[in-house]
Amino acid sequence: MNNKPLASLSLDLDNLWSYMKTHGDAGWESFPSYLDIAIPRILEFLEKRDLKITFFIVGQDAALQKNDNAIRAIAEAGHEVGNHSFNHEPWLHLYTEQQIESELSQTEEHIERVTGQRPIGFRGPGYSLSLSVLRVLTRRGYKYDASTLPTFLGPLARAYYFMTTKVSPEEKKNRKLLFGQLQDGLRPLRPYRWQVDGLSERLIEIPVTTMPFFRIPFHVSYILYIYRFSPILARIYFRLAMMLCQLTHTCPSLLLHPLDFLGGDDVKELSFFPAMNLGGVEKVKLVSDILSIYSEYFKIVPMREHARTLSQEKDLVEVKPQFRSVTIRP
Ligand SMILES: [Zn+2]
Repeated sequence: MNNKPLASLSLDLDNLWSYMKTHGDAGWESFPSYLDIAIPRILEFLEKRDLKITFFIVGQDAALQKNDNAIRAIAEAGHEVGNHSFNHEPWLHLYTEQQIESELSQTEEHIERVTGQRPIGFRGPGYSLSLSVLRVLTRRGYKYDASTLPTFLGPLARAYYFMTTKVSPEEKKNRKLLFGQLQDGLRPLRPYRWQVDGLSERLIEIPVTTMPFFRIPFHVSYILYIYRFSPILARIYFRLAMMLCQLTHTCPSLLLHPLDFLGGDDVKELSFFPAMNLGGVEKVKLVSDILSIYSEYFKIVPMREHARTLSQEKDLVEVKPQFRSVTIRP
């Protein structure tokens, strides 16, 4: 079965402080970290299964010496490192081009200093993306972006967020378009090239795949969410997603988070987060089962390899970016 189609696997290295910041919890300013627990566990897990994946790293974490060993270990184990912005603010789509330049370049510098690798892929925090982000990525020589999540559920995620967050009304202003809009569900599911006016280079977009036809997410945090209600349903749901991807010739890109590997027993501060009532061991078992199903259908590769293969496809669709105009904050 060496001729299985390609599928990519990545992990957004969101750290403890970024969840606390988004949730409006005090204490995030000292950048508390769980990377020393999470990364060894995740690297061991991947090594056992002979998997190489992409880690999207937040620049602020790479900038702090206390995280050096954990982050260096990722590259040393042969994984790809990508750029996940510097400040991990899911309202990146409100930034000016100059602010985006600074977010990207600072992150590149610190990642390269610590790991020796320069990122060629980007994922925006909270799937935020704008025309300006696409322009800056292309100018800086990036090969792919992975910030789109074609789902209709963005506004629902935002409503849930506003119900549970503690941030001030002033801070809420920036977060009006958090997690996208209804029409994001109409974006293509299969990878494509961005056709940005005035730029001859065409950045490849590899969406976080959602379920064909239904456009509902199936990344692992979402499967864990279902698992809390029904472990059987969670596995059936994921298998259905795989079957529909196969049926529609969609080579998926699946997304992981550190919290898929960490239980409430590992991180006490995040009890507000879904599925944190589960233990670490139980979560790791589910991730293992999900990835076994994933590899039944597809050959799992890091995102740069997925992008490289796509770049050789002559008939890859070109898409003109359409973003709702948003006010740029002062
Ligand atoms: Zn993130």
